[in-house]
Amino acid sequence: MRESPGGTKVWVPKVDSNICPKVGDFFSLVESVENMYRKYGDVAGFDIWLASKKMNSLGGVQTRYFVCSKEGNPPKKEFDSLEVSSGERKRRNTNFKRIGCKACLKVHYVKESARYEVYHFIEGHNHMLCRSDEKMFTRSRRQLDYKDRRNEMNKAAWFCGVVEVVEVGDKMIYNITHKNKNSEVKATYKVVHDVRNESFDCSCNHFVRNGILCHHAFKVMLNSEVQSIPEKYILP
Ligand SMILES: [Zn+2]
Ligand SMILES: [Zn+2]
Repeated sequence: MRESPGGTKVWVPKVDSNICPKVGDFFSLVESVENMYRKYGDVAGFDIWLASKKMNSLGGVQTRYFVCSKEGNPPKKEFDSLEVSSGERKRRNTNFKRIGCKACLKVHYVKESARYEVYHFIEGHNHMLCRSDEKMFTRSRRQLDYKDRRNEMNKAAWFCGVVEVVEVGDKMIYNITHKNKNSEVKATYKVVHDVRNESFDCSCNHFVRNGILCHHAFKVMLNSEVQSIPEKYILP
């Protein structure tokens, strides 16, 4: 990390010089540029997004911008059907905070050499970087957490039943019954799963009161096959 004259902090990835992009590097395919920058991002500890591109009159890519996922402006519809090609990962906008990072890589097509040249590269980020090995660690720890909880709560979930699911916009509304050991329905709760912000709110208010996920919301998570419990429901 170093401080710029303006007093803002800049984090520069520490990576092997041979994987660090350089202005003036040439690539024969724009996909190779993407692979290179993605690999660099993996090692450096940031995610890349494909920003704008310009096509030339022959239908080839003329310029291509790659940015850090924490780059500034909210995305326009850059992932409309025209833009999505095989190699492009879709954004999961719930998991990213955009804070105006300026790190980027830009290439343009040089006709004379029929290749793509890196003509602009900003190395520094305005946020801390999370290297992939550290990311793996946090991810695996969380998954472990999730498995533990899952086993523990799977049993409990047997006592809950999904009676009804209603889809309202981005929300899935579940009616969940709470049964006792003799399978008698003791109560019915409403769990609202907001797909967009991955929230699960149960009318029993158990989470709000105790900070522990209730069986009803958990039942819905199992039902909707979430890959992991959203972070906000995992206590430190
Ligand atoms: Zn960044
Ligand atoms: Zn509940």
